Amino acid sequence: MAIPFDRHFDAPFETDVALTPLIHRVLARNPGPFTFKGTGVYMIGDRDVAIIDPGPDTPEHVEALKRALAGKTVRHILVTHTHTDHSPAAKPLKEWSGAKTYAFGPHGSGKADEGVKIEEGGDRDFVPDVFVRDGDVIEGPGYTFECVFTPGHTSNHMCFALKEEKALFTGDHVMGWSTTVVAPPDGDMAAYMASLRKLLPRDDAVLWPTHGGPVRDPKPFLQAYIDHRLAREAQIVASLRDGIETIPAIVARLYADVDKRLHPAAARSVLAHLIQMMGDGRVVEDPRNGIAHYRLTA
Ligand SMILES: [Zn+2]
Repeated sequence: MAIPFDRHFDAPFETDVALTPLIHRVLARNPGPFTFKGTGVYMIGDRDVAIIDPGPDTPEHVEALKRALAGKTVRHILVTHTHTDHSPAAKPLKEWSGAKTYAFGPHGSGKADEGVKIEEGGDRDFVPDVFVRDGDVIEGPGYTFECVFTPGHTSNHMCFALKEEKALFTGDHVMGWSTTVVAPPDGDMAAYMASLRKLLPRDDAVLWPTHGGPVRDPKPFLQAYIDHRLAREAQIVASLRDGIETIPAIVARLYADVDKRLHPAAARSVLAHLIQMMGDGRVVEDPRNGIAHYRLTA
């Protein structure tokens, strides 16, 4: 089954929009090939609120957040992960509100080794006040979150489940408009697949991704998301079998109908699949003329 994407998303920039009695959103003015219409900053609660992913640190956006939060008390600043479209505004928001920040850890902190030193798009300045782990509960007046650790898109990616609405804030782990980028070294396909499967048995009624609109029927969507990755992997295996053994050649074959601006990201995704298969012993790397070639072991 094709992933049932919904790209009908329309919201005014930098404006407070009520989505449910408990959930408001401000859409940052940072649309792009990876952010879709922009970063959706969620504000949960009535007078006391938790913010999920404050977004980019631009004057216009920070002013819009302050406007939306006027007369409210910010109790918690939750961060799903440390990409520059998600976490940087945590700093000015924290200074302004005095609220603590909550996340798994700084960029690269979910990696077993020293962390990831060189990567585009990582916010290296963010360090949470409170390091949260899978199953941790964050409570405020009128809202209760459970932390759901979902590494893969980044090694420190955390989803937050809002008990009162059976709603899961999925950051970039699951998005309703597109698949997510899994880019090594910090992105990890094996971890990502495990984190997708982890959501299947949950009973979330709705997913609220950072980019785009909600996913209102999570289970079939998640299954299609998983199947899509398995199909990509099968296509890569078929390419290797056909003697297409370099990443640029595989991307040219598999992503012929995809926006060229996304091809570098697609190359990282193909690399992520190859790393996973090398980890399983299904593929080996075979450098030839200074270019990485890959081949199947069986
Ligand atoms: Zn991200």
